[in-house]
Amino acid sequence: MIFCKFCRKEIHEEAQSCPQCGGVLKSPVSATANEGGSLWMAITSLVLGVLGILALAEDSKHGRDELIGMGIILSAGWALGVISLGNKKAGKGMAIAGVVLLSLSLLVLLGSF
Ligand SMILES: [Zn+2]
Repeated sequence: MIFCKFCRKEIHEEAQSCPQCGGVLKSPVSATANEGGSLWMAITSLVLGVLGILALAEDSKHGRDELIGMGIILSAGWALGVISLGNKKAGKGMAIAGVVLLSLSLLVLLGSF
């Protein structure tokens, strides 16, 4: 809980405005700044997903070590995508696409072992 800076009543920390006095607590500028963290995670997830699909779509046989390395990177990207989905903020479409692509890549990867 936080306190309203206008009327000092206790309100929920996620509240955009105070239900007691109607004072606006979060400006659009600060809300955008908060979304920065999840946006880069969504973009990273999507980029890794595309790279994973492209790498796995190659005809060349990947070595076992290479597959393990890719699996670690793809898993990290997948985790980033899921985290940014949980934030329910900007870049959600990219995060969904990234998680879907990474899930496909990981399935193909596991099938290649
Ligand atoms: Zn208030």
